[in-house]
Amino acid sequence: MEKRALKPEFRRTVLVVDDEAINREMLGALVEDTYDVIYAANGREALEIIEDHRETLSLVLLDLMMPEMNGYEVLDRMHSDPALRRIPVIVLTSEKQAEIKSLQLGASDFIPKPYDNPDVMLARINRSIELAEDASIIQNTSVEDLTGLYKKSFFFEYCRQFDLHNPGAAMDAITININRFRLVNEITGRAAADAVLAEIGRAILEELKGSAGLACHPVSDVFFIYREHLDDMHGLLERITEHVRRVSQSSWVHLRMGVYSNVDRDMVIDSRFDRASLACDAAKHRYGDPVVFYDDRMHEDQMLAGRLVEDFEEAVRQGQFIVYYQPKYNIQRSEPALSSAEALVRWKHPELGMVSPGVFIPLFEENGLIMKLDRFVWESAVSQMASWKREHGYSIPVSINISRIDLYDPDLEAELTGLVEKYGIDTADLYLEITESAYTDDSRQLVESVTRLRSCGFKIEMDDFGSGYSSLNMLTRLPIDVLKLDMKFVNNLSDDPKGIKMIELIMDIAKYLGLIAVAEGVETAEQVAILKKAGVDIVQGYYFSKPIPGGEFEELLTSRAAGAGGRS
Ligand code: C2E
Ligand code: CA
Ligand code: CA
Repeated sequence: MEKRALKPEFRRTVLVVDDEAINREMLGALVEDTYDVIYAANGREALEIIEDHRETLSLVLLDLMMPEMNGYEVLDRMHSDPALRRIPVIVLTSEKQAEIKSLQLGASDFIPKPYDNPDVMLARINRSIELAEDASIIQNTSVEDLTGLYKKSFFFEYCRQFDLHNPGAAMDAITININRFRLVNEITGRAAADAVLAEIGRAILEELKGSAGLACHPVSDVFFIYREHLDDMHGLLERITEHVRRVSQSSWVHLRMGVYSNVDRDMVIDSRFDRASLACDAAKHRYGDPVVFYDDRMHEDQMLAGRLVEDFEEAVRQGQFIVYYQPKYNIQRSEPALSSAEALVRWKHPELGMVSPGVFIPLFEENGLIMKLDRFVWESAVSQMASWKREHGYSIPVSINISRIDLYDPDLEAELTGLVEKYGIDTADLYLEITESAYTDDSRQLVESVTRLRSCGFKIEMDDFGSGYSSLNMLTRLPIDVLKLDMKFVNNLSDDPKGIKMIELIMDIAKYLGLIAVAEGVETAEQVAILKKAGVDIVQGYYFSKPIPGGEFEELLTSRAAGAGGRS
């Protein structure tokens, strides 16, 4: 086997401790080609040198029988000081008894006296240094300074080793996240956020004392715990939260937890934590309970999600995505009149049948595929508008949905104006629906992007208004033409008298800002009547029509041209 040489980046220092000058000279001569050498003639002198060179000393060659302070005492002192414990000690001795005792005291090796083969001695010295350095590298690289927890790759490896040594134990995989960490990080500053991460690490280690388990800080605000099964997860999360809030005086800290309980031992470690993290993501959307347990439903959803992502490219190539149109009606006339439409994508999957956009849109928003899908939908819609215009001599305005991520695309403006030119439709006939929650993201950049689009002539529609956090103050600054009320306002109309009041309030705002108001999710004549009375201009919903294929929609255009009103 090839002998591994010491890494040559620097010259190491070795301390030779012996009360006999002849021995010191002999040992010095042996190592001085490879190492810098310091000498001590007794234990007391040796300890002083060791203290002074604690950072740089690579090895101590230690005689046992010496005046003033003997070698055992030096070993004992070194062993009880964590800063000195890392320095390997080779004991020089002629007695078998002494070998055992010094190994017990922490010596890493011994060299028998009288000294014989110098090559063997040098090899033992080199090897002791190598081993000590490897051990310290592992310690330094496996644990993160900030939190005191393992780094990810080491953590997964230690979990595997834990499993090997504890074959029967029931184990839990736990993921902990900080709610809205990115935002908090920005507001409180990096240092305060780091202090919180450090305290979470400390609290987790505290919790693990006395139970079998280990923990890791893989990235940003994510923490992993692998521990013996525990019933009271809420208690665990509460204690950690309480500690962090108290010690770092950060009352804003809200933690959430995903638990994959009683893990399947046949599953690779990473996947166990994928499950815990999936549950933790679900906790983000479940207000009220910060602890979510992984279950098989989540697994099925995840499998479906994986499949849909995998099938995406093929579906685009094969034309499985189809654009439907849902009509919108102006209700402020004597008879409701078709005014415009919203383009909504559908996926006709060859094996799964019709897949709802409620399932695949959020998924594609997460991984960016939405950008490609949106562009397909936009082009279909615009080309459809052009064809209606050709057939009927006029086209009606169509809204397309713009995803939040599209707004960060520097080419967006050019792409949309390009489409309009290519198909020869009026820019003002293309409405861009942007969901309210997008505006809370990074309002400045987003407002700029939307402002540019609006100055190109596109109409801007704020979708799902009232579902998020947009303040009135913000509303006055935003470049919008249409306020599209979130469906929940319409849902609340019938059973809640406050619901009507709410709509009236929003209408006051819309009028004040000069915005057109659209209500969607309208399913009954009663709702239409209330909305009409409140002054809502335009209504979209199953009461008039579900989203329908372009061909069917064309019939509505034909009857409009023939002068018929809305619902028949
Ligand atoms: P959205 O933009 O808020 O679209 C309105 C949703 O409400 C549509 O669901 C529509 O079919 C549904 N709806 C319409 N009238 C009624 C009603 O009377 N009652 C009820 N209960 N629902 C009604 P859909 O088509 O399933 O789309 C869901 C969401 O998926 C959309 O919400 C939108 O956020 C997204 N989406 C759909 N197509 C696209 C697209 O092409 N691009 C992007 N980025 N997102 C899309
Ligand atoms: Ca929409
Ligand atoms: Ca909406």
